[in-house]
Amino acid sequence: MAQTTNPQESLWGVDSSPAIKSYTLSNLRKIPQIEKFTEEQIFEMEVVAQVLPFKANNYVIEQLIDWDNVPGDSMFNLTFPQKHMLKSEHYGMMASVLKNNPAPKEIKAMADKIRLELNPHPAGQMELNVPVLKDGTKLYGMQHKYKETTLFFPSQGQTCHAYCSFCFRWPQFVGMDEMKFAMKEGDELAQYVREHPEISDILFTGGDPMIMPAKIFSAYIDTLLDADLPNLKTIRIGTKALSYWPYKFVSDKDYQETLETFRRVNKKGIHLAIMAHFNHLAELKTGAVKLAIKNVRETGAQIRTQSPLLTNINDDADMWAEMWQKQVELGCIPYYMFVVRDTGAQHYFGVPLVKAHKIFQQAIQKVSGLGRTVRGPSMSATPGKVQIDGVAEVNGTKVMVFRMLQGRNPEWVNRPFFAKYDENAIWLDDLKPAFEDKFFFEDELNEIKQQKKQSMNS
Ligand code: SF4
Repeated sequence: MAQTTNPQESLWGVDSSPAIKSYTLSNLRKIPQIEKFTEEQIFEMEVVAQVLPFKANNYVIEQLIDWDNVPGDSMFNLTFPQKHMLKSEHYGMMASVLKNNPAPKEIKAMADKIRLELNPHPAGQMELNVPVLKDGTKLYGMQHKYKETTLFFPSQGQTCHAYCSFCFRWPQFVGMDEMKFAMKEGDELAQYVREHPEISDILFTGGDPMIMPAKIFSAYIDTLLDADLPNLKTIRIGTKALSYWPYKFVSDKDYQETLETFRRVNKKGIHLAIMAHFNHLAELKTGAVKLAIKNVRETGAQIRTQSPLLTNINDDADMWAEMWQKQVELGCIPYYMFVVRDTGAQHYFGVPLVKAHKIFQQAIQKVSGLGRTVRGPSMSATPGKVQIDGVAEVNGTKVMVFRMLQGRNPEWVNRPFFAKYDENAIWLDDLKPAFEDKFFFEDELNEIKQQKKQSMNS
């Protein structure tokens, strides 16, 4: 059962302007709260953290985790590695390496081997979504999957204030002069959007773009604003900073500059949408997050909220209902409940689709109309964003009902389709069509894959 209260609510004042202190695998044992764990438990964490990167900070540890409730605490599970996040064979492989006094390169080799078995680039991200400029330049820092929205991965935003244990990402660092890099990447992004009048939205994503210092962030944004792109209507920023480090918008030394950049977007007549990642009600309870939300909203930005549904963290309809209500109260718009992706520790966090729909339905029934802006549960799968609409009976046959909220072909959007009832199915790939040999999108998706392969090889 997920936790619904946070007894540590008032530990830090909003005026305390704390400095961030980060913890990773290298200083895990220095976290004061870790002292109460046995050597065996710490070893288990270290084994897992060799594969699924670990990072937390003083705010997460002191404000968000209820240590009296560990190991059951949702925020603890969200940020700290647990033995069963690795399948037992993978756990055994890494544990035996670590027990033999290994050289760093042996650990890395084993970590890479295991990671490759965890589908590190789900939903065709590598081969299907890489955009190409008219002059043939391939833009590996971008993805263009849906007609109207392009994703942009700024190099300096590929890490986060803390890492979610369900998320599978490799932090990347660049050794180049950061400002120059931001402007070069920003220029290519602007050029691509200019070449594609159908694009109205750019999503800055990562990692967490809000890890970037205000100066670097504004270099990207100003490059876009200065480019005067008539088709650009919305800039979206996917971020978990409101949850993991709200001081980014409250008291960090450059927080005013970040907020000022937000204001410039608004003044230019472009909508700024903060796609805020909140997994649990506990993340919305501190004074700092409330003030951060207020400060961001005052710039004219709109905050929309999203999270996957996760076993061991938030598979609890009451918690979701309370979380959505709290978000509405704070002026945010509940936007998406996602199904956990087919990558990383999906076996640990995954919720079967039938159960996910039940939780969604129970939760949405408890909130007022303003909270029912939320969509889901939705899978970001290879053909598009697929929502489970429920379970129904057609001519005496029990089926699962789906529709696409987004599709690689826009004509697929909002088309309902049916799959054989399977209460264990956890992802689109587990489903079988209910009445036909294949789903309606399969042939066309194969064609799209072929075309993309050819253009990437040319
Ligand atoms: S903040 Fe986002 S990108 Fe970073 S670890 Fe969490 S889910 Fe992944």
